[in-house]
Amino acid sequence: MNYKGGVGKTTTTANLAAELAWRGKKVLLIDLDAQASLTFSFVTPDFWRDELEDQCTIKSWFESHEEGLPMPLEALVIWPEKVRTAIRGHGGEGDVGLVASHLGLLNVDLELATQLGGASPDQNARNYLRVHERLRHGLEPIAEDYDIVLIDCPPNFNIVTKTAIVASDCVLVPAKPDYLSTLGISYLLRNLDQLIEDFNFYARGGRAEPIDPRILGVVFTMVQVYAGEPISTQAQFISEVEQLNVPVMDNWIRTNNSLFADAPQYGVPVALGRSSTPREEIERFVTEFEHKLNL
Ligand code: ADP
Ligand code: MG
Repeated sequence: MNYKGGVGKTTTTANLAAELAWRGKKVLLIDLDAQASLTFSFVTPDFWRDELEDQCTIKSWFESHEEGLPMPLEALVIWPEKVRTAIRGHGGEGDVGLVASHLGLLNVDLELATQLGGASPDQNARNYLRVHERLRHGLEPIAEDYDIVLIDCPPNFNIVTKTAIVASDCVLVPAKPDYLSTLGISYLLRNLDQLIEDFNFYARGGRAEPIDPRILGVVFTMVQVYAGEPISTQAQFISEVEQLNVPVMDNWIRTNNSLFADAPQYGVPVALGRSSTPREEIERFVTEFEHKLNL
């Protein structure tokens, strides 16, 4: 996650998933962004409209809870063909499952907000936990079926985003090495601390298992490279982020407009493509990621 849009969250998620699956992992992707960019990186708009829109997105899943007939998350998982074919074509044996998103997810945030509050402190705590633990509880029965679950968040800190953090062991923060992205990271860290404090306050007395999501690291994306290193203006922002006391991944991903912009329409992330330099960088980043998670 990252507050800022356009910093490479979705691209990083899609490539991580593809590379991990190529390495044999069974990966589940959850698209929590109403813009559904991750969804459309793996399925076509036609397929989405015909097969997913009405009943098979994370929006339907949240709504099924409001309607008192909760669907199992597993019922929404699809297995996009193109990426699977590419994984097999490269000799990989893992897989990428996807829970798709929907533009109407924005309304889910509003609906969840109406469920907060309560007449007594106890009711207040219970309502807070019920809303914020929704995804955590949804994932519990299926987490064991996957080697890893990656959640692509929207560029905000609304309730749906918070449900993702509550459900997560780790937070990965893709960022561009520029002024506004750097500012956004310290803001994100503060909000993350606040969420953990609030949640664990309401969870006291055995109402819920406390949370302790760890920042896995900031991964810099869209890096402009000169002589193998980030250009000096970007290197300066990278070192400013390092001084925020947040882990920064050693490996970054360089900018390559044509390659990254085109990949989604073919349904196959750059990690599985032919161009070698970006692919090698993604591979190194994914190795570091696996290492940090002991995957
Ligand atoms: P976010 O999910 O944070 O909004 P995206 O992953 O959708 O960001 O990326 C925003 C835009 O930048 C997209 O058009 C994407 O194709 C492009 N992009 C992502 N990574 C790179 C990169 N390494 N080089 C060039 N363009 C990139
Ligand atoms: Mg995105």
